[in-house]
Amino acid sequence: MSSVAVVSSENMDEKQQSVSTPVVQATHTKVNLLGMSRTELEKFFEDLGEKKFRAGQVMKWIHQYFVTDFAEMSNISGKLREKLEKICEIKAPEVVHRNYSKDGTRKWVFRVGDGEGSLVETVLIPAEDKTGARKTLCISSQVGCALDCSFCSTGKQGFQRDLTPAEIIGQLWMANYSYMEDVPVAERERTVTNVVMMGMGEPLLNYDAVLSSMQLMLDDFAYGMSKRRVTLSTSGVVPKIDQLAQDIDVALAISLHAPNDELRNELVPINKKYPLQQLIAACQRYLAKDGNESARRHVTIEYVMLDGVNDQPEHAQQLLKLLKNLPSKINLIPFNPFPHAPYGRSSRNRIIAFQKTLSDAGFVCTIRQTRGDDIDAACGQLVGQVADRTRRAEQWKKKVAQQQEILRTQG
Ligand code: SF4
Repeated sequence: MSSVAVVSSENMDEKQQSVSTPVVQATHTKVNLLGMSRTELEKFFEDLGEKKFRAGQVMKWIHQYFVTDFAEMSNISGKLREKLEKICEIKAPEVVHRNYSKDGTRKWVFRVGDGEGSLVETVLIPAEDKTGARKTLCISSQVGCALDCSFCSTGKQGFQRDLTPAEIIGQLWMANYSYMEDVPVAERERTVTNVVMMGMGEPLLNYDAVLSSMQLMLDDFAYGMSKRRVTLSTSGVVPKIDQLAQDIDVALAISLHAPNDELRNELVPINKKYPLQQLIAACQRYLAKDGNESARRHVTIEYVMLDGVNDQPEHAQQLLKLLKNLPSKINLIPFNPFPHAPYGRSSRNRIIAFQKTLSDAGFVCTIRQTRGDDIDAACGQLVGQVADRTRRAEQWKKKVAQQQEILRTQG
């Protein structure tokens, strides 16, 4: 599920402002330490003839104090600092635009890659919860996406490339740093409380980079986040869900969006390869693995509400049946239309009725709040700057219009 997308420079919202990145710019021959896992960094220091524990020290400087200048790493000897300066760098993706909304939502546009590179977005959404102020960062894993979900602006742009671990973790680094820029190094702390791998791209199709980035998120020498607060959201790459179960314990979300195969084949085409029965079984296996672990108590089901398409009473009934043996929480997402989107947003009443059906059956079912409207950063499909003129979209527009007509004539 993508809540962010690539935007072209010409289409930038005028409220976005160019900024210069504070990160050290260095030559390409230098090794970027930002995306390295603890194991990789330990090996790096051992190869330099240094002790392994240097890895933990440097990780804390990078990920907990947001330092990019080796000269500031005061518990590292001057000689080693000089050596590191020569051969390494700590380099997050370049921030080309940033917007901070009045409601606390923050959005960054990063340039990744050499030269003009590509642009990706990251969004931070604040909320109050039982434990206090929550700050949830929605992180991208790929530039574009190959999966072409019919309601998704990212999918319409095709796939460009996978992000590297430094480009993935760099989004979290920069979001934290944005609160600490003016804070003295010794007083800096991590501010982002939750991460969802739910931005642009299908994270399970960039498996290794996403896995090592999530390991850094959980690592006490880096972000030390609770496994319950790191969520991977997938459209349903079944074999990789099984692999994930073996490799890391994080929360799992499924971009479901349809309660039957026929509709899901249209909305989320990967369903043709891994139909619902297989997907639900994979979720059950994921929860069964280390079932007592707190991150695996339930799966979050993401369901975007598309007017007249998947929001009817029968769809709610089908969803109840589908999920009856899967511990799950359901998150209804009001669709955020982008230009030429083939769908509209379900009415508030329709969404509430849908929620009631699910809640009455005993499911925890929430409606996602739309946030950050003043910077074009609402959840769901937020960019709205990508023109979707594909033939497929046109066909869908017609189909949706026909369905709405049928509903109207049925009263
Ligand atoms: S998996 Fe589907 S919803 Fe997610 S980014 Fe790709 S096309 Fe969009």
